[in-house]
Amino acid sequence: MSKRSHDEIIGKLVRVKKCEAREHGDNNGCVCHLIGQVVEIEKRYETPFIGTPSYHIKGMKYRVRRCEVTLIRNQQAVVRVINGQLVLDDPIAVAMISAVGKHNCRNTLELNADRVEHFKRRLTERGLTPDQAVIMLINVDDVHGGPLADVLLPQGHNWQEIRDKGEIPFARGLATRDGIQEVLNVFDKDAAAKLKSISNVAVVIVDHGVTEVFEV
Ligand SMILES: [Zn+2]
Repeated sequence: MSKRSHDEIIGKLVRVKKCEAREHGDNNGCVCHLIGQVVEIEKRYETPFIGTPSYHIKGMKYRVRRCEVTLIRNQQAVVRVINGQLVLDDPIAVAMISAVGKHNCRNTLELNADRVEHFKRRLTERGLTPDQAVIMLINVDDVHGGPLADVLLPQGHNWQEIRDKGEIPFARGLATRDGIQEVLNVFDKDAAAKLKSISNVAVVIVDHGVTEVFEV
């Protein structure tokens, strides 16, 4: 990647994936505490020195390099974190993007067909009924998927290993249906209604900036 193409992140939302500061701690280059967060890139840091460019994070004193962040694919993110607060963007834009994202989630379902079958079998093996558990497929690099994966998998997981292989990290597994229903009731009324209407095994997908529910 040429140095100039690093500029592709200017004005975009990115997810901080690592900190490569020479010194970690209280300095503008250390973004350890932002790892996993979605931030907006404002502009290139102007310096007479020649080297790897760094970029100002909007609303913060910190700077990041291109290699320290992942560009968020769905740039019209619905929710972002600004100064520790969740902020909701333009609702009309959100509705349009949401429709596109939900459509694209079918693709995610198809790509994960074998895992879905696997978890369906596991559900039966564990003696669980479809009203007790749902299958979750969460893109960890998604604006909503990241925080949700953190809640569902608090023990963490080395997603970086997967990213380093050039793959998209997905959290996959079973979750209690009641718990997920509650989360959807708050964050996505359409998805919540859809889950309620499904009597068979449900798959809940968080990807493309949205949540979508399928019956399998
Ligand atoms: Zn650091």
